[in-house]
Amino acid sequence: MNYSHQHVDGSNIALPVGKVVCIGQNYQDHIAEMQSKTAPEALFFIKPSTALRPLAPAFTIPGGRGAVHNELEIAVLISQQLTNATSEQVTAAIWGYSLALDLTLREVQASLKQLGRPWEVAKGFDGACPVAGFVPAADVAHPQQLDFSLAVNGVERQHGNSANMIKGISQLISEMTQHFTLLPGDMVLTGTPAGVGPLQSGDQLQLQLADFFIVNTKVS
Ligand code: ZN
Repeated sequence: MNYSHQHVDGSNIALPVGKVVCIGQNYQDHIAEMQSKTAPEALFFIKPSTALRPLAPAFTIPGGRGAVHNELEIAVLISQQLTNATSEQVTAAIWGYSLALDLTLREVQASLKQLGRPWEVAKGFDGACPVAGFVPAADVAHPQQLDFSLAVNGVERQHGNSANMIKGISQLISEMTQHFTLLPGDMVLTGTPAGVGPLQSGDQLQLQLADFFIVNTKVS
């Protein structure tokens, strides 16, 4: 598999590559655009390690399976084992922060939802999680005030701020660890703001995480 966790400076991070634990609804504006109902229980799901790919200089999307949507999300890299962890234990176990795309086969997902079936094939396929390099947690003074955005072919499509999360990062990860033990090298995706939409082969993407980095990439 052509992926290892990278520091934003391009060096390798000495952690294994593990699973990706995700939350389905964590920004009100995205829940509204999907006309989804909010539930008291958070919606968690997992992408396997084989979904991970470097975000840049290019990434691929599956063909022939309907629309593939961008979901731009703040990614969190975990450096210590967490089981039934408190928010404080979570904070101490965060290696750093980055941006990832939770690529979603939207039409496949819609028909699975209609049948009441799980969505693994719509969100867990090979290459379903392109991710950028990580900024060390020590450099991120205010992880709950991170501005982030995605432009496609020069037009802004998604713009979020972690201040608008329904569940904040440490609380969200603490709840995840009541269901799934997180291991060193696992990643967490923290939900997408509004602006999901179809990607096409040849699209030029620009992703920005606050003042930390801008990544240019394309759909090959
Ligand atoms: Zn998502």
